[in-house]
Amino acid sequence: MEAELKKIIQKTKVAILGSGSAGLSAAIYAARAELEPIVVSGYEEGGQLTLTTLVENYPGFSDGVLGPDLMTDMRKQAEKFGAKFIPVKVVSFARMPGGFRVGLDSGEEIDAACVIIATGASARFLNVPGETELVGRGVSTCATCDAYFYKGKSVAVIGGGDSACEESGTLSKFADKVTIIHRRNEMRASKIMQARVKANPKISFIWDTVVEEVLAGETKLRALKLKDLKTGKISEFPVDGMFLAVGHVPNTEAFRGVLDMDEHGFIKADKGMRTSVEGVFAAGDVADPRYKQAISAAGDGCKAALEAERYITSLSDKK
Ligand code: NDP
Repeated sequence: MEAELKKIIQKTKVAILGSGSAGLSAAIYAARAELEPIVVSGYEEGGQLTLTTLVENYPGFSDGVLGPDLMTDMRKQAEKFGAKFIPVKVVSFARMPGGFRVGLDSGEEIDAACVIIATGASARFLNVPGETELVGRGVSTCATCDAYFYKGKSVAVIGGGDSACEESGTLSKFADKVTIIHRRNEMRASKIMQARVKANPKISFIWDTVVEEVLAGETKLRALKLKDLKTGKISEFPVDGMFLAVGHVPNTEAFRGVLDMDEHGFIKADKGMRTSVEGVFAAGDVADPRYKQAISAAGDGCKAALEAERYITSLSDKK
């Protein structure tokens, strides 16, 4: 393994950081353009889709496709055209004369003429007992992905932002009962989104309350242990599903101070996925607090690779 890593790590035209649908789609396009991309794939190869089961909204699969299978196939497609994968994590990023230096947690470095950042965002969790154990068995971070499985059931949505409203709206098309549980007594969501959920007869609210524990039944989530922050009262709230909408954390730690970001740490990119630094592109959730879909991330990855190809050509023209 060690020897293999040392052999691959070298100067490259394009380094792609991340292996979710944005990174893999960028890898397919960059490899087909004979840019011989190196993909730093991280430890959760395949990104957020590997955490889901059936994906029913990715175009082209009328019977749906398992998230992990889709990511495996995308990787195979990229490898077929010559993309190389390194299963390590990015820890640092710096501008260098003639390009960029990417530091890896293996202690090695990649020098790249241009970089596509597709490190994604991770759903924020509550960090309470029972939560991670029940992911996929009642705990979800994506109503668009999983609402369908809660037909006729009772679900809770945690959070008070636009995502909580949107997730609740999506869930209300399937579930019989949706309860938004929020830690304060007012939402931070936009007025229009709030009005929409408040007018929805299937959606109700529990205010000033936090989840203290996620309780398992025999095989899946059974109930939430709640704490009323005003009275301190603890109660059990039976539900079939808990959807987390407490924000996403973009994986942009390594790029702070080099690239422009918004106040939440999402990388700012234009329509061509160009960031504030020439030669650096950002694709997918790392630069997208709004849509956060596999298909839009894949589209971003394609655009980033096409722009990277143009950039590389412009560098050779300058020589
Ligand atoms: P936000 O950061 O806006 O909201 C997160 C919510 O989760 C807040 O209500 C926060 O509570 C709550 N929260 C955070 N941590 C915890 C915790 N540990 N325990 C309990 N509650 C917690 O994230 P969103 O994902 O909702 O939105 C992100 C961005 O995306 C926003 O800019 C939003 O406008 C945008 N967006 C736009 C949409 C649209 O226009 N259609 C749809 C979805 C998102 P508190 O309020 O107390 O801080």
